[in-house]
Amino acid sequence: MSFVDLHCHSTASDGTIPPEDLPALAVSLGLSAIAMTDHDTTCGVPACKAACETAGIDFVPGIEISADPGPRIDTDGVERRRGTLHLLGLFVRHDDPELAKISSRMREARNSRNPAIIEKLQALGVRITYDEVLTLAQEQGTQVIGRPHIAQLLVAKSYAKSLSDAFTKYLKFGAPAFLRRDYLSPAQAIDAIHHAGGLAILAHPVQLVMPNTDELEHAIKRLADIGLDGIETRHCDHTPALTLQYEKFAQRFKLLTSGGSDFHGDRKTVKLGSQNVPRAVYEQMLCSRKQTQ
Ligand code: AMP
Ligand code: FE
Ligand code: FE
Ligand code: ZN
Repeated sequence: MSFVDLHCHSTASDGTIPPEDLPALAVSLGLSAIAMTDHDTTCGVPACKAACETAGIDFVPGIEISADPGPRIDTDGVERRRGTLHLLGLFVRHDDPELAKISSRMREARNSRNPAIIEKLQALGVRITYDEVLTLAQEQGTQVIGRPHIAQLLVAKSYAKSLSDAFTKYLKFGAPAFLRRDYLSPAQAIDAIHHAGGLAILAHPVQLVMPNTDELEHAIKRLADIGLDGIETRHCDHTPALTLQYEKFAQRFKLLTSGGSDFHGDRKTVKLGSQNVPRAVYEQMLCSRKQTQ
């Protein structure tokens, strides 16, 4: 059986492998299709597409858009934790003007938040400057500068033991240097993906951090009602039991299933292709696109 990977990041956002180098790696691992899904940018798509053609594997142009999951207020009225709501746009036209508009809005939201995070870190006594973040990002050729790059600097300067330690100690929701940023609503993100001719897939549902299965089901139903096309059932954060549960939701709401490693190169431990996503998942998407076109 041949396998595919429909969730990969490159240096265009917070991965560490350049978009043009991913296809050769995919081929060496026996994959027959990959999707390039950088955070809030499609700028790695043309280079990855060309390299896929050379390497002889199928290519899915994509993007991963962060949307507002809404507040999570617990029964005592306190906001304890917000999960993340990420939408993958698969088969998008990478140069769609609507997608470009919201991507640049999201990059601006990060670009105005990043210096403010640095100020918070400085107030905590961390000796780090925004210029250092910019230099690091430039060296890596990234278009989307975010907390992962700040985390990398915190590790390099021995303020944290690892990237996830940097998030826990400083950067994640509830940590002392956390700062909210502006997010799109899920409807805006789904509409933009559709405008660009893509399929909107709920990425890693486990990261919504819903308090129970009923609420998760409600959340998926609400997304399906506003046009969601599919759910990422196979993902490195999902146990086999979760994958099964999400497959049942997909059936219930007549949604496609998707799967990928969420490969970030050296920034995360997960390996490209590690989710063993059958090629049939990709073929099913092609089929559903043909029916709607
Ligand atoms: P940002 O877009 O600046 O809000 O950063 C979000 C990115 O940071 C995500 O796409 C992840 O790649 C990474 N990230 C978020 N939370 C964590 C965490 N707890 N540990 C490591 N990486 C994280
Ligand atoms: Fe990421
Ligand atoms: Fe994500
Ligand atoms: Zn991702």
